[in-house]
Amino acid sequence: MNKLFLYNTLSRKKEEFAPIKEGEVGLYTCGPTVYNFAHIGNLRTYIFEDLLKRCLEYNNYQVHHVMNITDVGHLTGDMDMGEDKLELGAKREGKSAWEIAHFYEDAFKKDLEYLNIETPNIYARVTDNIPEQIALIQMLAEKGYTYKTSDGIYFDTSLVKEYNKLSHLPLEELKEGARVEKNAEKKNPTDFALWKFSPSGAKRQMEWESPWGIGFPGWHIECSAISLKYLGQEMDIHCGGIDHINIHHTNEIAQSEAATGKKFFNYWMHGAFLNIVGGKKMAKSDGNFLTLDNTLIKKNLNPLAYRFAALQVHYRKPMEYSEDSIAQANNGLNSLLNSVAALGEIKGGVNEEYREKFLAAINDDLNMAQALAVVSAVLKSKLSAPDKLKTILDFDKVLGLRLDLAKDMAAPEFNLSDLASDVQALIKARQEAREAKQWEESDRLREEIKKKGYLVEDIKNGYKVSKL
Ligand code: AMP
Ligand code: ZN
Repeated sequence: MNKLFLYNTLSRKKEEFAPIKEGEVGLYTCGPTVYNFAHIGNLRTYIFEDLLKRCLEYNNYQVHHVMNITDVGHLTGDMDMGEDKLELGAKREGKSAWEIAHFYEDAFKKDLEYLNIETPNIYARVTDNIPEQIALIQMLAEKGYTYKTSDGIYFDTSLVKEYNKLSHLPLEELKEGARVEKNAEKKNPTDFALWKFSPSGAKRQMEWESPWGIGFPGWHIECSAISLKYLGQEMDIHCGGIDHINIHHTNEIAQSEAATGKKFFNYWMHGAFLNIVGGKKMAKSDGNFLTLDNTLIKKNLNPLAYRFAALQVHYRKPMEYSEDSIAQANNGLNSLLNSVAALGEIKGGVNEEYREKFLAAINDDLNMAQALAVVSAVLKSKLSAPDKLKTILDFDKVLGLRLDLAKDMAAPEFNLSDLASDVQALIKARQEAREAKQWEESDRLREEIKKKGYLVEDIKNGYKVSKL
């Protein structure tokens, strides 16, 4: 049996994974704040978490996966100042905060489907779990960890030993980071809100009664309350993007361990960022960010090309986005689909030797680039086509590239001279329009070409034609 090693942010080491309950894993992944579309940076993190989950399943663990949906309480400043992002989204679009939450939750789920990301066992909306959050804050109040200010109930971080155990940063540095948002009433800069009061004289769209007054939960309490509710006995792995380490996850640990006196999750795993080549950090709050829709779907690219691109970069390394890198990933995926389609339809047996190699790659802290190298090795090997097919489809349980649909998804390429003369003329006209930067005309011609049954895609050094 191949041992599974995962990098734990808590120890800053790769550790051999051992679950609390034999054969089962409790997995908690911080979900989206549903006030806008997910950007492809967010989606990179969800792809990493899906690979982790599939890797656990491939290792025969039964995974209990919980994801929260943040539909209230995440303020524009990470230190509990500023406006609620949901109420901001409502103002921006002239809808209610509830409508905004439902609309973007649906859009998020659609993105996950496009990327073939497995659905969690439980999606938990913050607004559906208010009593659990209030109960947890009450527990903290009874134990003396809370204090009241004019705008809410706060957690006193000075009462916690090892507040910096996840971030590994000197306390002074954490405090310095927290001072960015000024709040003179806090006892310590790192203290954070458990419950925020609705502003006096103004009615919020989302607010609830509590023992402390009408208001809404602070951002971090949701993940503690929801994970304790659903995974209380199986606090194995908790994940998110690296931006969550110093504040969100640090505070989740502080309040949960203060309340229960028990260790809150054994393994903490974090995905590195997606950055735009030559650009600044992508943030939903900028309003100007890249979605799956505008980078791939609208361009008629297979959305799984983004998953394929994410597979090539280790999850703990930054990934660079550019149109070229996506076009290359699209070609790479297409060529893999063509190779798998060419294997025919008869399935043989899984080759154990290659399976071992594949397992060794994914069990080394999800080395997916190495896992893809094993796929290439299988394709080049002397195995029979049915055995190659069966082996690769077995690997696809983890890769999640829908290689079972290779025949339908693979786009055979055509040379211009293979095509009917009217299609050739349209393609030439489209190229001329592109060279003259007449984008509308080029889009119109692309549609004309589609009506003739062909798809033209722009790639690094030109274009590619395939049958629709
Ligand atoms: P949010 O919807 O803003 O709460 O973020 C959802 C997830 O995306 C969290 O796990 C974040 O840590 C992660 N995230 C945010 N920005 C990026 C980025 N540029 N690249 C990768 N992950 C990100
Ligand atoms: Zn969270």
